[in-house]
Amino acid sequence: MTTDTRPDLARLKQQLVVAYRIFAAHGVLDLEGHISFRHPDNPDQFVMGRHTPASTITEADLLTLNTQGEVLEGSGTAPGERPVHVGVYLARPDVQAVCHSHTPLFITFSVSDVPLSPLYQWSARMGYQVPVWDSASEFGDTPMSFSNAEQAASLARTLGDRTMALVRGHGAVVAAGSLPELALITVYALENAEIQAGALSLGGTVKYLSEGETQLCNNMLAIPARTTRPWQAWAAAVGMPDAG
Ligand SMILES: [Zn+2]
Repeated sequence: MTTDTRPDLARLKQQLVVAYRIFAAHGVLDLEGHISFRHPDNPDQFVMGRHTPASTITEADLLTLNTQGEVLEGSGTAPGERPVHVGVYLARPDVQAVCHSHTPLFITFSVSDVPLSPLYQWSARMGYQVPVWDSASEFGDTPMSFSNAEQAASLARTLGDRTMALVRGHGAVVAAGSLPELALITVYALENAEIQAGALSLGGTVKYLSEGETQLCNNMLAIPARTTRPWQAWAAAVGMPDAG
């Protein structure tokens, strides 16, 4: 007999609020970014915060949506860029949590031909040489925001089976198997971006993890305890202790 160890809906809602606070505290989310999780009982639905600053989100601000982007439960305005989440959940049955952010340093790398790529062990979960989705290559001139399902599906194709993609002149999307894993990937991707920008500014040759090193580090970080420990530390730091 197997035991279902997936968190239930109430637990996931608690974790989503914690995740919003962690992402706000680390400068991942600003006024506009958002996080979601796939509904544990209805895989065609997901839960995300309404259009309100990440640093103020409570469980009362959470909305349940379907894969048409329609609000099924909750009150308030749904984020206009919810198609990003829909696109990833439709393309990736394995994904249980998604973050879409406008993090300034992710935008920096999205407009450069220098790939965002791991420099150390903890950032390996974002993958070797993070791909960049460029709206202009398929959709020409746009207002640089996600207004429809076609753009979101195109972004999901760039993401492929990876955990992270940058969005040119806009930000990033991160996909994970859980909210703590989403935090691990995203927070360390941002830390890597800071370190990488600093290393590049020194003017010498920057030594990145090889693709093989990235994979080996990735395998090591896949151990659940590697995800739980930073999540617990970050949750405590925002005053919302969580076991992960
Ligand atoms: Zn956006």
